Amino acid sequence: MRARKRFGQNFLVDTQVVEQILSAVSAQPSDHVVEIGPGHGAITTGLAASGARLTLIEIDRDLIAGLIAGVVCRDPDRITLINQDVLTVDFRQLTGPLRIVGNLPYNISTPVLFQLLDATDWIQDIHVMLQKEVVQRITAVAGDPAYGRLGVMISAVADTEALIDVPPESFQPAPKVDSGVVRIRPNAARRAAIVNIEHLGWLVRTAFHQRRKTLRNNLKGFVSAELFASLGIDPGARPETLPVESFITLSNTLVENPNVS
Ligand code: SAM
Repeated sequence: MRARKRFGQNFLVDTQVVEQILSAVSAQPSDHVVEIGPGHGAITTGLAASGARLTLIEIDRDLIAGLIAGVVCRDPDRITLINQDVLTVDFRQLTGPLRIVGNLPYNISTPVLFQLLDATDWIQDIHVMLQKEVVQRITAVAGDPAYGRLGVMISAVADTEALIDVPPESFQPAPKVDSGVVRIRPNAARRAAIVNIEHLGWLVRTAFHQRRKTLRNNLKGFVSAELFASLGIDPGARPETLPVESFITLSNTLVENPNVS
């Protein structure tokens, strides 16, 4: 199998891992599953066999003919192939709720995750293969070394669960790092508690601007000593110790009281 590095192509060749992914997703005929980067169809064939409606988004033109011959032509009424960069796809244009599946190209996994976060009201769940280190960042809680912007922003709107550890030899070519599959399930109640998600995004980015610095330093000019005190947040703490709920409370307070800082 020829693999293009620039498209992050590490094809799954471990049928046991494919089975584990399919069983975790457990697609149903009533589902609309969107697979990002189907490649040669390692996961796609099993998804198609579930009877779910399928939309495949693949950037590499050279893989399209194989996908059409291999999986699309078996059920052209239920399978749609989009030959496009996933980062330019508007998920809201697809009939929701969507179930997202993918062995993501590692070079664009973080932008894809943030793109999916923008459409959580349209998405039922996400099962994606990522570098293990990214899975750890997503599932980290305050105090963990891996806790940071990505984990806070995902946990603010979704439940997360690390599902499967996958070694390099499960792929061809083998990547240099370990991988893992994570489940992300949007949580509407949690999302509804955030007054302004863009503001929360800005606050978290600013708070983590320099991980080694304190909240007081990173948020200088935006959050006063009085506000930290009134919310019970220690301004001398590092950002990686502040729980997701405190980031949300701080953001909501700033949005709802524009004269307070
Ligand atoms: N799903 C296959 C598997 O598990 O064997 C392939 C996974 S491979 C890690 C990533 C796939 O995403 C490749 O097929 C690659 O061509 C595709 N891809 C890379 N960048 C993409 C992009 N921006 N938009 C859509 N697909 C992309």
